[in-house]
Order: sequence, then C-alpha cells, then structure tokens
Amino acid sequence: MEMNECVTQCSQSSSVRYYVLLERLLQAMTDMNGLNLRKLNSILAELCQMFRLSKGVVRFFQGLNYEMQDKGDTFVCYDDGRGGDAVLNVRIVTKVNAVVTCTVLMPPEEKRLTDDEKAKVDLIMKTVLNFVSRVRLQNVVEMLAMHDESGFSNIRAFMRYLNQLNDLDGLGGKVAIYYNLRHFSLVNQEIGERAGDVVIRNHYEGLQMLIGNAGTVCRLGGDNFVALCERMQLESVLGYLHGTPVRYDADSGSRVKVSASAGVFLIPEGFRMQQPGDIMDKIISASQAARTGGKDRVVYYDDSLVKNKERLMRVQQQFPEALRNEEFHVFYQPKINIHTGELAGAEALCRWFRNGSIIPPDAFIPVLEESTEICKLDFYMLEHVCRDLRRWLDEGREVVRISVNLSRRHMMDFDLLQNIIEIVDRYNVPHQYIEIELTETTTDVEFRALKRVVRGLQAAGIYTSVDDFGVGYSSLNLIREIPWNVLKIDRSFLPEKLDGSEDSRTIMFKYVVAMAKELGLSCIAEGVETQCQLDVLRENRCVLAQGFLFDEPLPTEIFESRLCGFRYPLNEQG
Ligand code: C2E
Ligand code: CA
Ligand code: CA
Repeated sequence: MEMNECVTQCSQSSSVRYYVLLERLLQAMTDMNGLNLRKLNSILAELCQMFRLSKGVVRFFQGLNYEMQDKGDTFVCYDDGRGGDAVLNVRIVTKVNAVVTCTVLMPPEEKRLTDDEKAKVDLIMKTVLNFVSRVRLQNVVEMLAMHDESGFSNIRAFMRYLNQLNDLDGLGGKVAIYYNLRHFSLVNQEIGERAGDVVIRNHYEGLQMLIGNAGTVCRLGGDNFVALCERMQLESVLGYLHGTPVRYDADSGSRVKVSASAGVFLIPEGFRMQQPGDIMDKIISASQAARTGGKDRVVYYDDSLVKNKERLMRVQQQFPEALRNEEFHVFYQPKINIHTGELAGAEALCRWFRNGSIIPPDAFIPVLEESTEICKLDFYMLEHVCRDLRRWLDEGREVVRISVNLSRRHMMDFDLLQNIIEIVDRYNVPHQYIEIELTETTTDVEFRALKRVVRGLQAAGIYTSVDDFGVGYSSLNLIREIPWNVLKIDRSFLPEKLDGSEDSRTIMFKYVVAMAKELGLSCIAEGVETQCQLDVLRENRCVLAQGFLFDEPLPTEIFESRLCGFRYPLNEQG
C-alpha cells in the first residue's frame, strides 16, 4: 500500500515536472522579447535528463536536396557525452520543402522508454521541430525578401538599412550614392552574359569590401545600384566607380574595365528622413544628371538639379518636333593652317534656333546624349553637311574637309559605319571631304567598338580625329592602337598666361605634339584665342589651329565666303 502510493506520487510528480517543463519550453519559444537560446537549451537539457536521454540533435535543411547532400545547420540541444543509440527520430518536411529532423540518443545501460514516455518525448520533439522550422523559415523568408534572385541585397534591404540608421539618428554625415554601370549591355555583348554576370558580382563585392561595415551596397536591378558609406570613404568609393578592372575569368585572369556614373547626396549633419524617398529621390535625380554628362560622371545633389531636370524634360519633349522643323542649323568653325593663313578645314557645330533665339549645344547635347536621340541629331548634321558640300562642289567652290561630331552613343550601333557611308554617298560627296570626330572611351568594350568603327572609316577613305584629346582619361593605347588621322588637342593644354612662359601646360602641349608626330598623326590645337597661344603652336610645329583668334563657328553664308581662297592675316612674330 505504501509502496503503491509512492509509485503514484513519484510518477505524478515526474508527470507534473514534465508539464511544468513543457510549459516553460513553450514560453521560451514564444517569448515576445526575443529568443533566449540559452534558456531554451537548458530546458531541453532538463527534459533529456528526465527521460534518461544522452543527446538530442535538431537539424535544419533548406531543401530536400540539401538534406541529401547533408548540408544543414545543426543545433545540438543537449549532449552529456555518454553517446548511445538513436531511440526516436522525427522528421518533418515543410510546405516549402525545408526539412527539419530531430534525433534523441540513449545509452544502452539506461532503461528503455515506456510507451507513455515515448509519446511525451515525441511531443517535445515535434514542438521543437515546429519551432525551429518556423524561426528558420522566417530567416529564409527574410533572406528572400531582402535579396534579389541572384542573391544581391535589394532595395528593401537598402530601405531597411536607411530606416534603421534613421531611428538611431545615424544618417547625418553619411553619403548616399546611386550608381549605374556604364554601357553594361556592351560588356555583355562583348564577353557574353554569363561573364557579364560575374563582372557585376565581382564589381559589387569589390565595393562591398571597400565600404565594409561602415555602410551597405544594394542592387536595384540590372546595372543600377545604391550604396551608403562614410564621408571619409567617398573619395575611394568614387575612385572605384570611376573605373576599375574587374576580373571575370578566374583561370585566365581576364578583366574588363567597368566604370559607373554616380549621383551623390552628402547627407547633412542632423538630417532626419520622414520617408526613404527623402534620400532616394535625391540620389536618383543626381544620378540622372550624372548620366547626362556631369563632370567626371559624378553629380552631387543640390536644389538646382530640380531646375535642370525640368530643362531636361523640355528638351526631350521638344526635340522630335524641332528636328522635323529643321530648327537645328550647322555652323562651321574654320581650321587654319598657321603657316599660310589658308583655310584647312572646318568643324560642323550644331546651333538650335528656337523662338528667335539660339540655344548653344551645351544646353541640349548632353540631354540628347542620355538617350540615343543624339544619334538622330548627329546623322541630321552629317546629312546637312553633305548637302552643303554637294552644293559647294556644284557651285565650283574650293571646298575643304568638314568634320562632324559623333557622340559615343553611336558605339552601340552596329550599322554605324554603313549608315555614315550611306549618307555621304547619297549626296555623292567624295569621302576625303568628310572627317568624323570621336572622343575617348572609358570602357574596354567601347574601346573595341571604337577601334572597329575607326578602322572601317579609314578603309572607306573617311578621315577620323580624336576629339578633346587630353581631357579625361586618355590612354596611350587610344592613339597607338587605333589608326586615327588627326589628334585634336584640347584647349586645356594651351597656356593661359599672356607672357607665354613655359608653364606645365606648355610642356604637356610640347610632348603631345611630339608624340602625335612620332605616331604619324597630324594634330590641331583647339580653342586658340590669343596671339601668344599661336606662338606656342608655332614653336612646337603644330600647324593647324581652330579658335576664336581666327573665327567663331560661323553661319553657312559667312563660312561660304571663306571658301574662295580667303587668307587669314597672320601676325608673325620673331
Ligand atoms: P567640341 O567638339 O569640342 O567643339 C568645340 C567647341 O569649342 C565648340 O563649342 C566651339 O564653339 C568652341 N570653341 C571653338 N574655339 C574656341 C575658342 O577659341 N575658345 C573657346 N572658349 N571655345 C572655343 P560649341 O559649339 O558650344 O560646342 C560644344 C560641344 O557640343 C562640342 O565640343 C561638341 O562636343 C558638342 N557638339 C556640338 N555640335 C555637335 C553635334 O552636332 N553633335 C555632337 N555629338 N556634339 C556636338
Ligand atoms: Ca569636336
Ligand atoms: Ca573638341
């Protein structure tokens, strides 16, 4: 009798203890203050001891294939080191095919579990499994929500980052950047999309590494990214974005240079955002401005950008109609042989006549360059030049070679060469009267496209020149590997000082001219404004000049009058 009572009491008390532990387990798992893993593990340890178990292991596999490859996370809930055999094993597969397993071990010397005990252990195991799968799946869901299909942090992750920093008053003094990889479709064309993906990934990771824990980098889709970093890091980040060789083939070490345009917002101290748009809108509009040709392709946000944006939209709207109405006129700026004073050629420059006033190219060319609209304008210009040349030839004038500017945007166009030749031939203009001015490239892919185009033009007997040589990042390769006819030296190489003293510009000028000569290129100095600059040209044997000293870009009628043996007066000194 006594004995029986004790048995009942003991089993009652163990049963009570079991329910107490189970309740504590549930409380620990549903604690709104967050998960306390230590607490959870200590309850599970108590439960294992209670059921004489030596070990309990929970594992999580993200999918069935992960389970097959045995690639999962392991939670060792309890292990007293005694080992033993698996006595119970529970496995669940969730709706999204994640797998969670739980196994408990018992040393052989222990008394086997009764059916009642088995049922209880089974319940605990299933409770734990359910919990683990829910928590883990939450992580997976969060991972999916914050990343795009290729595993890049996405816009939601960026927004969350901004919000978290904002809550901590930590945005002030940081820098937000929106950047776009330039001509990435060309890179894809050139090295293939798969290698292109590798480039994007490596470029992204390179920037992530540069910024480290001080900020974040997220991909918005395609070749658009946003980043947040410290003010101190800005210089190195912009350096990275300006142009970085990125590896895309680990075996061969092949690289491609990637450059980006960027809109930057220097977040002022004490800045608090009401909504993420307060920052996003600013970097988006700055990056749009950067794409349309900001200095070094970086534009810092300020309020004037809003006005610029309005202007930009006006130009975009008015352009098609203006083109139809032939509101664009060709102005010709003479190129002069400074030994003889003779007209040696001219550059066709665009002027927009609208409502009685003349809009200069700087106000609309960069806008048109944002899209391929610029190509329409360039072909329009070429066509008008050909028309004029044809007429001058028919009128028996002494014509000179006319150069036409082609935007880099054309490099995307595989039919470019044919299109140019087709226009020139339509007006039956001998090819030697046409010169195409092109500027330097910033990416390898563009470089190769440029090489192809210049070679093609050359083969067709059409002249080519490198425009604005020396501004930006001219590489020697540009002139060594591409068979140009003419190097147009940018006016920033000409000395500004009136005394003509040998400043660094003059020295650079000297070397550029000498180098061009050595490579068999003829060179022309742009923007010659003063007599003293003309002297520098003479000293360095640069024979051709273009600039206000001789003529501004002239309307057709005035330029035509220079086509009959006109000579510029030369004020030769010394
Ligand atoms: P660019 O190709 O470098 O053209 C030379 C610019 O320098 C012209 O400006 C010209 O007027 C200016 N210039 C000439 N001599 C002097 C001088 O002595 N001093 C100074 N300060 N400037 C001088 P413009 O006509 O305003 O054209 C600006 C830019 O717009 C051009 O630079 C070119 O990049 C672009 N552009 C003009 N027309 C076209 C076009 O039909 N197609 C394309 N794609 N771009 C064009
Ligand atoms: Ca030019
Ligand atoms: Ca130029």
